[in-house]
Amino acid sequence: MKKYLVQPDMKVKLSEWDPNDTSEFKGGKEQGQAEIEKLNHRLEELQELLFAEHRHKVLIVLQAMDTGGKDGAIRHVFEGVNPQGTRVANFKAPTAEELDHDYLWRVHRQVPAKGELVIFNRSHYEDVLVVRVHNLVPREVWETRFDQINEFEEMLAETGTTILKFYLHIDKDEQKERLQARLDDPNKHWKFRLGDLEERKLWSEYMQAYEDVLKKTSTDAAPWFIVPANHKWYRDLVISTILVNTLEGLKMKYPESAENLAGVVIE
Ligand code: AMP
Ligand code: MG
Repeated sequence: MKKYLVQPDMKVKLSEWDPNDTSEFKGGKEQGQAEIEKLNHRLEELQELLFAEHRHKVLIVLQAMDTGGKDGAIRHVFEGVNPQGTRVANFKAPTAEELDHDYLWRVHRQVPAKGELVIFNRSHYEDVLVVRVHNLVPREVWETRFDQINEFEEMLAETGTTILKFYLHIDKDEQKERLQARLDDPNKHWKFRLGDLEERKLWSEYMQAYEDVLKKTSTDAAPWFIVPANHKWYRDLVISTILVNTLEGLKMKYPESAENLAGVVIE
């Protein structure tokens, strides 16, 4: 899965990243789904260990265009993890109170504590994406944010947070199909906003903004992965695999009892 990692300062042209790629798993969709189930079980064990050990903090950042599959990935990848110790933080357009603070204020409050796994469904990256594309603040303001974000994430990493950031990469045709599917199904209308069509018109501006984000904010402390996401099963498989491998790498252990339990008999 190394091929999806963005190296620090690597120039990214998203048109050269194939959203249909499934090359790291030859088995196809059915076997892929079976593999995801196995990874889900392993993730369940690792998350219990994370919670029990109460040492590491894990932060997963999900970013994508509308219909890119953030909600679906959260459903499938984290199926089976214990709600105790796991949390999703959603970042919508800021409230008046949030706007009265610096843009990282609302984000910092949601970062994982010891033993916790937190998923950001959108994130502080909106402050250099939607904010940039819509000119919500002047260029001089959002331009300074890349360094600020890198420093913020470095601080989190240095204080025990493992950070993984995933950009779910779909193409414009795939978005058209998914938006149409939402429009055709009354049960999906709650997910559809007319404003999504206005955002779609800004596709190339968003791609440019994402390319800058990927180039400037993929660091050793907090790497970005570009996940091919036209195929949902493959998207889930890539995220699960990277997450499980990363958690394995933490070499976590169940804590020993502080008391001497040898010879204890329960009557
Ligand atoms: P959704 O994820 O579909 O529920 O939509 C959430 C909306 O909130 C998206 O249109 C985001 O672009 C928007 N949003 C999130 N963060 C910000 C932000 N910092 N400034 C402006 N809009 C934001
Ligand atoms: Mg939406």
